[in-house]
Amino acid sequence: MNRIVYLNGEYVEETKAKVSIFDRALLFSDALYEVTSVLDGKLIDFDNHMKRLDRSMSELKYPRMLNHDEIKILHKELVKKNNLNEGTVYLQVSRGVAERSFDFPDSENDFTVTAFTQEKDLINNKSALEGISVMTIEDNRWGRCDIKTVQLLYPSFAKFCASQEGFDDAWMVRNGNVTEGTSNNAWIIRNGTVITRQADNLILKGITREAVAECAKELNYKIDFKNFTISEAQSASEAFITSATTFVTPVIKINNAKISDGSPGKFTKLLREKYIEKARKIAI
Ligand code: PMP
Repeated sequence: MNRIVYLNGEYVEETKAKVSIFDRALLFSDALYEVTSVLDGKLIDFDNHMKRLDRSMSELKYPRMLNHDEIKILHKELVKKNNLNEGTVYLQVSRGVAERSFDFPDSENDFTVTAFTQEKDLINNKSALEGISVMTIEDNRWGRCDIKTVQLLYPSFAKFCASQEGFDDAWMVRNGNVTEGTSNNAWIIRNGTVITRQADNLILKGITREAVAECAKELNYKIDFKNFTISEAQSASEAFITSATTFVTPVIKINNAKISDGSPGKFTKLLREKYIEKARKIAI
């Protein structure tokens, strides 16, 4: 692959983009990110991704925010330069390059801003069509999962453990309750009510989660933002995940239990269609 990527104001071939070994992303995972999906060459829900980035930066005391218009331009340029029709744009901002020290560098320190595209079949893919299996695993992440940092080692490890056991993904569990997937929000449907965990410090408040909750309301489904256990999930009538890269994707098996008859749920399919239809309408 030879993509054009973005590095601190420049568009360069991916093999030529170099960052210092003193970057705080490398030394301290001191970096934040956002992933925006692209359909028909257009960005989905860009403004909400930028609002969440501002929040992440402010929670971690980044001394200033990025300019949304500039970030929008670089996203669009990357889509154009890489001829991207369907896929994602990853944006990452670190506190920058500084001598290794636990102290934050002074507020004038330049951020490191990088971005790149990935081509992906977001609409037609095996997982969306056939559903995925998930394995549950203890949620051993830190206590600020509401901030979208690049500190992704544990979710990456959890996904590895799941795939070693023959599962597609993992759902993480804290105090007996499912928090979320390794890189997505977890949902179930029980007795006609759509349930996903309340947004607090233990999950990332997904941009797709918010949009899908709206879709569910429009489809006259009742929504409950509350905890659910593994056994409640296993005996649910439907289960699914949401994220910018998976939209709404059915879950058909949790550990050794099939969800209903083990095929994607009807309402999950409807929700996916509705979400995609709305996403296309608001794409920029
Ligand atoms: N939770 C976690 C832990 C994630 O990494 C993601 C995706 N980045 C999500 C939820 C879903 O968020 P979004 O809908 O904004 O992609």
